[in-house]
Amino acid sequence: MKEKPCMDILEMLEKEEDCSQGDIVSLLRCDDPEVVEKLFTIADTKRKKYVGDGVHLRGLVEFSNFCRKNCFYCGLRKENKKLKRYRMSFEEIYALCERIARLGIRTIVLQSGEDTWYEAKTFAELIHRIKKLGVAVTLSLGEREPWEYALWRDAGADRYLLKQETFDRELFVHLHPDDDYDKRLECQKVLKDLGYQVGSGNMVGLPYQTCEALALDIKKFQEWDFDMIGIGPFIPHPDTPLGEHVMDPEAKCLLTLKVLALTRILTKNTNLPATTALGTLVPGGRERGLRCGANVLMPNFTPSPYRMQYTIYPGKICVQEAWGNCLPCMEKMVTKLGRTVATGFGDRVRNSS
Ligand code: SAH
Ligand code: SF4
Repeated sequence: MKEKPCMDILEMLEKEEDCSQGDIVSLLRCDDPEVVEKLFTIADTKRKKYVGDGVHLRGLVEFSNFCRKNCFYCGLRKENKKLKRYRMSFEEIYALCERIARLGIRTIVLQSGEDTWYEAKTFAELIHRIKKLGVAVTLSLGEREPWEYALWRDAGADRYLLKQETFDRELFVHLHPDDDYDKRLECQKVLKDLGYQVGSGNMVGLPYQTCEALALDIKKFQEWDFDMIGIGPFIPHPDTPLGEHVMDPEAKCLLTLKVLALTRILTKNTNLPATTALGTLVPGGRERGLRCGANVLMPNFTPSPYRMQYTIYPGKICVQEAWGNCLPCMEKMVTKLGRTVATGFGDRVRNSS
């Protein structure tokens, strides 16, 4: 079959007609600046139409960098013996959340490696206490048992982030020595059934990742109707098996922005962060993300010295910043773009159609 011209595909997208995986591949491959510019403009228009100008700030707390797994791309992998490991105590985490809530942040994201040191029941008690601070709680703790997800939901957790990383089965297997593709999706189903708002996402620019694989990710994001989708560039970490991988940062940034823009257009009102990884990849990366469909930022509230030890990937921006400085910086970024800092919890309204 003959490929449709990219401008025709963009017209379809503008009119909110659905497009095929093949159409998405054409757009991802296209480097005509006029097409790319138009794609980004459509994404920005749909962002404004479906989620408005408000940018939600989610306060990130990276409370432990211990991990039982060995994902090939990640600096926290168990086999990385060079990493200095830390665990924050329950009291330390709670005291930090109190300070974050006092700053007016409406969502706290608790993230860690897959660290089963924190007993599920005690963790549930922590969630219960944090909820009393009047914030939404997002968990990002990896794959856990259904009863643990249920316990935390009962304790008041609102959302759960568990990225598929790639929907290409073969690539998934190559990246995850400990994980099963279907089991991860099963976790998503369990989380959804428990009433969590669920988040997925991918990494862009992984070794052996094709445009077909990225187009599949986007179609799956649409099909699963996720509430949040984290799209970030893969940044090689020298102390991992994928540390040698090279790709031009600007090319990777552009590809990530295209995936982000297409995801906004096709999922309409999903919450999409302009990721810290994008800001690390190129200067101004997050600002560019916000102009291509993103409506969420994640200020980092992990205290020193832990913050520099949470090295999922190297060179992470803002790790040297004093605690709390991310907030005014992001407020400035948002205002400069003519947008506003959203004041609500930023829950997503599910598409009824
Ligand atoms: N253990 C949890 C949460 C921590 S990892 C989990 O795996 O879900 C959080 C995210 O970091 C992952 O979903 C992955 O997308 C991202 N990540 C890991 N290594 C990365 C790298 N080298 N470059 C960019 N993002 C990376
Ligand atoms: Fe652990 Fe998550 Fe990193 Fe995998 S991506 S090694 S589960 S922290």
